[in-house]
Amino acid sequence: MRITRQRPGTERGAAENFSGAVWLDEIAAPPAPSRLRVFHVHFAPGAHTAWHRHPHGQVLHILQGEGRVRRRDGAVEAVRAGDTVWIEPGEWHWHGAGPHTFMSHLAVVEAAGDGTTTDWGAPVEPGDRHA
Ligand code: MN
Repeated sequence: MRITRQRPGTERGAAENFSGAVWLDEIAAPPAPSRLRVFHVHFAPGAHTAWHRHPHGQVLHILQGEGRVRRRDGAVEAVRAGDTVWIEPGEWHWHGAGPHTFMSHLAVVEAAGDGTTTDWGAPVEPGDRHA
């Protein structure tokens, strides 16, 4: 058993993968054979990911504020603190804050055998962002 009381510093989301101000806290990345990866992700109003997919899917649990999620061929969905979203393996999607509020969520993924957690795609077009 290991208790973490001091974790790595908060990191800014890479500009090629995120639009707007997005900051990530690594909550857990336990050693093999676990492939669990948990992040607390903070989005400024209007900030969001690019289109992407996860090889083994992803759980998002909204901790604070109001956000938006969209899967390819789906509508933009509003999500709020307390909501939990399951994203299917390989499902293209994006997530982020609503236009006028901060949003933070836990992001839980299982890495692939090669360590990949995310395949990144195109930026989200402005017209795709609003419910
Ligand atoms: Mn995702």
